Amino acid sequence: MISDGKFGKYGGIFVPELLIPALEELEAAFIKYKDDKNFNVELDYYLREFAGRPTSLYYARNLSEKLGCKIYLKREDMLHTGAHKINNTLGQGLLAQHMGKKRLIAETGAGQHGIATAVVGALLKMPTEVYMGSEDVIRQKLNVFRMELSNAKVLPVDNGSRTLKDAINEALRNWISNVEDTHYLIGSTMGPHPYPTMVKHFQSIIGRETRKQIMEKEGVNPDVIIACVGGGSNAIGIFSEFIEHDEVELIGVEGGGNGVNSGKTGATLSVGSEGVLHGSLSFVLQDDYGQISEAHCVSAGLDYPGVGPEHAYLKVTGRAKYVAITDKEALHGFKLLSQYEGIIPALESAHAIAYLEKYAEMRENKGKTIIVNLSGRGDKDMFLVAEKMGDEL
Ligand SMILES: *Cc1c(COP(=O)(O)O)cnc(C)c1O
Repeated sequence: MISDGKFGKYGGIFVPELLIPALEELEAAFIKYKDDKNFNVELDYYLREFAGRPTSLYYARNLSEKLGCKIYLKREDMLHTGAHKINNTLGQGLLAQHMGKKRLIAETGAGQHGIATAVVGALLKMPTEVYMGSEDVIRQKLNVFRMELSNAKVLPVDNGSRTLKDAINEALRNWISNVEDTHYLIGSTMGPHPYPTMVKHFQSIIGRETRKQIMEKEGVNPDVIIACVGGGSNAIGIFSEFIEHDEVELIGVEGGGNGVNSGKTGATLSVGSEGVLHGSLSFVLQDDYGQISEAHCVSAGLDYPGVGPEHAYLKVTGRAKYVAITDKEALHGFKLLSQYEGIIPALESAHAIAYLEKYAEMRENKGKTIIVNLSGRGDKDMFLVAEKMGDEL
């Protein structure tokens, strides 16, 4: 490997020796193609014509008036398949094709990353298999159907808690025995090096567009950027262009579940501790013996007991701040954006909206310019939200 893939002490490559050659091959290809002109012309073409980039930086006038701040929304919800995940699946899919790989595998929790991988598999004519916990296969029937419609094969995983973390383990296992012809397309800034760096690279388009757009609209950097954090890819994507601008406050919002001290939470950085999960050192939710705990959060995208290693680094160095929003508060955020702006956010993004309201209500923050990364749209969450809110509307 050329790099050890560390962010401070976090990250790294904690995998069985059998996987090292595959990770070396992937790192070499990533380094070769990330600045390659033809590769980027092709990727830009698909991002524009297939996925719908650039997304707008939308001034949320009604919410700005209500909260007494200048609020902009980065509209990743407008992308094909409904979220930022397509930025990464297009990037990695194309890279796999350039590497001569014939087959894609992926993990998925709720199915969002599975769908974003499946459509890229269809687009690039690469057979695609998606590992999904059998519990999630039942809970997310409609998304299974969507993946299958785009030719992907969904493989239910019956191990452990039968959810996302078990699906990742199974995908890693399959990759070990098929590295010759297969690319494992990881869906967030997690996993062993080079994934956290590579996924950040493909998601940094969000930050580059945002910086250009805010400069055109305001002529200065925003005061603060707020983004939800599951594995951390949409947050790192928008943070990336601003990390070196110290005056910009960066805030990641985790899924608090029933509350950070309730034992039913997804707030890894808020209440987790250092540990190794899925190939890298970061913060994890674990018991006293180092066994990984189950995460809990109303939104599947934030329901993960780990977090990308760069976020661990940004937290301990103090460059970014991490907060948690409960399920209940997220549902309030979901309603708030829908009612004030006519934009229905994904439940994940609704966590960022809920924190936006808290932030804007602090007296010292009045009048600030705030950018919220609206990572996805809420169509996928309709049934769940209807069930949870009942007559409350
Ligand atoms: C998957 C998902 C997330 C969480 O993933 P990150 O890697 O933390 O960005 C957030 N928002 C939406 C809409 C998602 O689909």
